[in-house]
Parts: sequence; C-alpha cells; structure tokens
Amino acid sequence: MKWVKRYDQWARVRQIHPVLSDEAHTCTNCGTDYHGRFCPQCGLKASIARLRFKNLFQNFLDIWGMGSRPMFRTIAQLFTRPGYMIADYLSGHQPLYFPPFKMVVVVTVIYVLAGWLRGVPIDGFLGMDFFQDIMGNSASERGKVLLDMINAVVAWFNDHLAFAVIFGQTINVVATRLAFRKAKVKWTLVELFFADIYISARYYIIATLCILIFKAELDETPAFGLLSFIIFLYYWLTLAQLYNLGPWKSLMGYVRKTLWQVLIITVSTILFAFIVMIV
Ligand SMILES: [Zn+2]
Repeated sequence: MKWVKRYDQWARVRQIHPVLSDEAHTCTNCGTDYHGRFCPQCGLKASIARLRFKNLFQNFLDIWGMGSRPMFRTIAQLFTRPGYMIADYLSGHQPLYFPPFKMVVVVTVIYVLAGWLRGVPIDGFLGMDFFQDIMGNSASERGKVLLDMINAVVAWFNDHLAFAVIFGQTINVVATRLAFRKAKVKWTLVELFFADIYISARYYIIATLCILIFKAELDETPAFGLLSFIIFLYYWLTLAQLYNLGPWKSLMGYVRKTLWQVLIITVSTILFAFIVMIV
C-alpha cells in the first residue's frame, strides 16, 4: 500500500529543532553580548522584550507551560505520529514536547470543564460499569457469588481511585513489556509508563471532544463502537511506531498484550477477592 509507506516516511521525520541565527544579542539581564537563543551567562531567553499585552496572556499560560508551542505540537502529534513522537520524547528530545504528566493533568482539567460546560456528569471510573454489565447479565447462581466478590473488589477500587488508576496503568505497562519482549526496540517499564501517560492524555482528548460534540460521556454516546475502534486503531499505530514494527507484527503484539492483561487481572482479582473475604 503506497499511501501507508508515504505516511510512514512523513511520520518518521522529527519536527524542527529551533535554528540558531547569526543575530547578535545583548542580554537584557546581565549585559553579555552573544549569539544564540539563550544568554550563555545567565540563561535568559534572547526573545525577552519589554512587557506588552501579548506577554500578559503569555505569562498567564506559562503558569502551566501552556504558552509555548510544544503543547499544541504534542497534541497534534499524538494524533499524527504518536509512536514516533513518544519514542522521540523517551530518547532524549524532551524540549520538543510537552511533558506527559503535565499534559494529562491539563487535559483532564479541560475534560472536567467540558463536562461542566455541557452539563454532563462525569462519573468515577470508565470501564468498570461496562465490566459489571457483562458479568451481571450472564451470571448464574454460583456466578453471582463470584460477582459479589468482584463487586467488593470494584467497590474497594472505586474508593481508592488514584491507586486503581496507577494499578491499571502498571498492569498495562507490564503486559506491554511482556508482549514485546522479543522486539528489537527495548523500552524499560518506566519508559513505557511515560508512554502510557501520553496515551491516556490522548484518550481524554477524544473523550473531551465526545462531550463537546455528543453531549455525553464516551461510553454513553451512540458512536461508542466507532470511537472505541478509533481508539484501538490509534493504540495499534502507537505500538507499531514505538516498537518500529510493521502492521501485522504490532497487531500480534497488541493481542499478546491484551492476553497478558487479562491473565494478570484475573489472577490478581482472584487473589484480591480471597484477601477481601479473609479480612
Ligand atoms: Zn544574561
């Protein structure tokens, strides 16, 4: 497929590092004469000028580092070249991109604001209700006991949301590591954790758009199936680019990752349920 190749060639190219100009500057802070983007003596930016109205807004955005281009560039690239972008970030090109933890906080705040704006109540834990629905509908009498046990675990998780998010993320990261352990490109658990944070930021961006467009949470819109498929396609693309694998191998990796996830979750749920029963 020609267009896939063309896209890949385009996506591999890292976007612009700032170019050095020959222009001479005198530092407004310490008076040093120099060429470049920053004062070598005190580190002040060459572009600092008298404060104007524009700077007021810029300074306001700078509180969260949102004033600079990296934020918009990073969001755009999470959708256009996600895996290559994340690989760039992880392998040392950090100044080019908005850092993942800040990103997820900013994006989550925007998500909650969108919910408030559109009058959509945001409830705690996406995915959990879905899980309960499936279990509830197909449960026999013996299954119901198991379901009660699972409910106890879920209730505990809902009360300990932050822990649950980190727990879920950790399972995902470990599963990814196991599924791609034979790939030539190696990422450590910590690096995968950072990658995952970017991926959740992208998820919240999609969920925010969903609230703004459909006036409903992602799992409650009529387009849920389509959106889930898009999220899956993005995940697949991200893994392919992150591990530098073709479409087929990365898809198989995705399947292995999912199986590892199911295995880890099943084993730890059973363990947990027993602990909850005993205590
Ligand atoms: Zn200086």
